[in-house]
Amino acid sequence: QFPFGRRLPCDIYWHGVSFHDSNIFSGQVNKFPGMTETVRKITLSRAMRTMQDLFPLEYNFYPRSWILPEELPLFVAEVRMMKDSNPSWKPTFIVKPDGGCQGDGIYLIKDPSDIRLTGSIQSRPAVVQEYICKPLLVDKLKFDIRLYVLLKSLEPLEIYIAKDGLSRFCTEPYQEPTLKNLQQVFMHLTNYSLNIHSGNFIHSDSANTGSKRTFSSILCRLSSRGADVKKLWSDIISLVIKTIIALTPELKVYYQSDIPAGKPGPTCFQILGFDILLMKDLKPMLLEVNANPSMRIEHEQELSPGVFENVPSPVDEKVKVAVIRDTLRLMDPQKKKRKDTHSEVPPKLTPSAVLLCRCQSSEQAPGASEEPPDAAPGPEAALPSLFLKQVFPKYARHFSYLRLVDRVAALFIRFLGVKGTTKLGPTGFRTFIRNCKLSNSNFSMAAVDILYIDITRRWNSMGIDHKDSRMCLQAFVEAFFCLAQKKYKALPLHKQVLSLIELCECRLAALHGKRLVWGCG
Ligand code: ADP
Repeated sequence: QFPFGRRLPCDIYWHGVSFHDSNIFSGQVNKFPGMTETVRKITLSRAMRTMQDLFPLEYNFYPRSWILPEELPLFVAEVRMMKDSNPSWKPTFIVKPDGGCQGDGIYLIKDPSDIRLTGSIQSRPAVVQEYICKPLLVDKLKFDIRLYVLLKSLEPLEIYIAKDGLSRFCTEPYQEPTLKNLQQVFMHLTNYSLNIHSGNFIHSDSANTGSKRTFSSILCRLSSRGADVKKLWSDIISLVIKTIIALTPELKVYYQSDIPAGKPGPTCFQILGFDILLMKDLKPMLLEVNANPSMRIEHEQELSPGVFENVPSPVDEKVKVAVIRDTLRLMDPQKKKRKDTHSEVPPKLTPSAVLLCRCQSSEQAPGASEEPPDAAPGPEAALPSLFLKQVFPKYARHFSYLRLVDRVAALFIRFLGVKGTTKLGPTGFRTFIRNCKLSNSNFSMAAVDILYIDITRRWNSMGIDHKDSRMCLQAFVEAFFCLAQKKYKALPLHKQVLSLIELCECRLAALHGKRLVWGCG
């Protein structure tokens, strides 16, 4: 720990909350720039909506959501329309303040008119989301899953998933929402921080009882009832990969701004906490992504009313120690060197490796048998097999077709011009249109300017950064979709977008080729 600052460069920097140190020029940092902003409730909902517009079936694991206050009229209109077309539909919605955590400020409603527009919510934007009324219950209780995911690298994309997670239980038996029980947080919200205050909270040292259990204990139970647990895992892996694919475009914009290509800087990795709810039919639904998941391995126990004590929590320890141990193991710079040099000489024991040996657990994760593809013999030989499983690029070929917005973001970044920025000016946008030859007699440069101004103004009116009036990535994506729709009217949206991406990439490649030839000439 360096409470007063650090003097020497390090191999691995472990920041507590976010990427904030601009004086790091080497090594690896455990946070990506912009991750906290990217996974906030509103930003995540927007990114998921873009993907749902492109690939509705692939992204149906995220509940339908609206952003408040700006989409309140849309929310009211859409709900009315759906109720008119299906009068037996009796939905419930959950309102979650943006940037909130631990269930803070969350409430359930039956009708859009119940949205509280006074007080805190008015000053705080929020997401309103369809409430999943039929979750899977265990012991009559609702629970959610916290799964740890390591984003090892953004470019190329590398994702690892922990082989076990935590299941956090409600403390009142679940009933489908009615006007009478809507306020019962111990029945509807699975947050540990809320349920710990219920008299029914059960601390247990065993992994398969109590209010916090391992996910593997739930899987064992489901498997004994004949559930297809393999399919469930594969659905969860897909959910994680697709969610990260939705987040990468925004992350790449932040990354190039904080760590410009070609300048010395660190590389980044990050442990994310995925909150997932299982529906009755075992379909996993994404609730949210945490950029800074709690790594505490103790829990609070109330000794007498109002008097709490921290006691070890074996369930947290089993999962979290393994996640941190394997993250260090995968990020071990000595290992990278070994891989690069194919050294025959046994490598030095690095500080992280020393830490790993100390944390070594005798327990092995369920089904943990694989070594990572880049595993090399060394100090790790003495360690348990990996608890983090590589899923990307391992399954990349199944998901590559979804990475369209990534390619749109690459175009956006290319025209940003000045390094260190995340927004595109009008000149950059014009250059993009000109270089990709997108303007013609039907779409003049004056129309290009109007498109830029209209979309940018709207996005800036709802954004956080009011000072910078230029075009953000989401606004560019909207403009790009607009251009694609204009040009390829007859196709479905994802094909329109793909066709325009290919056209732009092709024209830019041709232009680059020409410039090279001229340069040689
Ligand atoms: P927070 O960051 O405040 O914990 P979450 O989005 O995780 O916010 O929501 C808190 C809890 O509310 C979740 O743990 C879950 O139990 C419940 N919840 C959230 N969204 C839904 C939903 N769409 N359907 C059903 N339950 C939900």
